[in-house]
Amino acid sequence: MGRSSPGLQAAGHPASLGTSAWAWRRTHPRGGATFPGPAPALCQARSRSRSNSRLDNMAHDRPSCTLEPEHVQRLLLSSREAKKSAYCPYSHFPVGAALLTGNGLIFSGCNVENACYSLGICAERTAIHKAISEGHKDFRAIAISSDLQDDFISPCGACRQVMREFGTDWAVYMTKADGSYVVRTVQELLPASFGPEDLQKMAEQVPQPGRAWVPTRV
Ligand SMILES: [Zn+2]
Repeated sequence: MGRSSPGLQAAGHPASLGTSAWAWRRTHPRGGATFPGPAPALCQARSRSRSNSRLDNMAHDRPSCTLEPEHVQRLLLSSREAKKSAYCPYSHFPVGAALLTGNGLIFSGCNVENACYSLGICAERTAIHKAISEGHKDFRAIAISSDLQDDFISPCGACRQVMREFGTDWAVYMTKADGSYVVRTVQELLPASFGPEDLQKMAEQVPQPGRAWVPTRV
C-alpha cells in the first residue's frame, strides 16, 4: 500500500464503532467453513452463488488500494451498524454503507426509500453525499452490507457512477451477511467509464469545422 493508514475516526455514529454484536467471520480459504477471527485483507470467499460467481472468481487479486485488515474490519462493522437505520418499508432490503475518507473519517449511510419509489436513495450514495456535504471528497474505500446470505451485496449502476465521480482507484468492499467479502476498485466495477476528465477534454478540444464524421472502429 502506497498510502499511509491514518487512524479511523467515526463521523456520525461514534458510539456504534467497535461495539457491534456482529461477530466478524471469514470464509476459510480451503474448506469453506466460517470461523471467528480477525478481518482478512482479502477474503477468498468460495461460495459459488450464481449471481456472484464472477466476483468469487476475481477474489484472488488484491487491489493496491485495499486497507489494512484492522481498518477493513472497522469499516465493515460501521456499514453493518448503518444498515440498522435503513428505511426500506417497500423493498424490505436494508443496506448499510461506510465510507472512509483520505484523512481517516468514516461516514455511514443507509438506503432511504419513499412512497414515490423513484425518490429512494441507496446507502452508498447517502454516505457519499454526507461526506461531500461535510467538505470531504477524497475517498479511500467504501464498505457495503446487506442481509444477503449467499451473495455479496453489489452497488447499483447509479452508485458506481457516483463513486467514479471521485476517482477510480479506491476500494469497494462488498459483503455477505456472514461478514465475508470481496473487494474491487471503482475502476473494476465501472470500466470504460465517463467522468469529470472527459468533460475537460471536450473543453480543451480544438474545433475542426467542416470535417465529416465517419464511423471508424478503433
Ligand atoms: Zn445504488
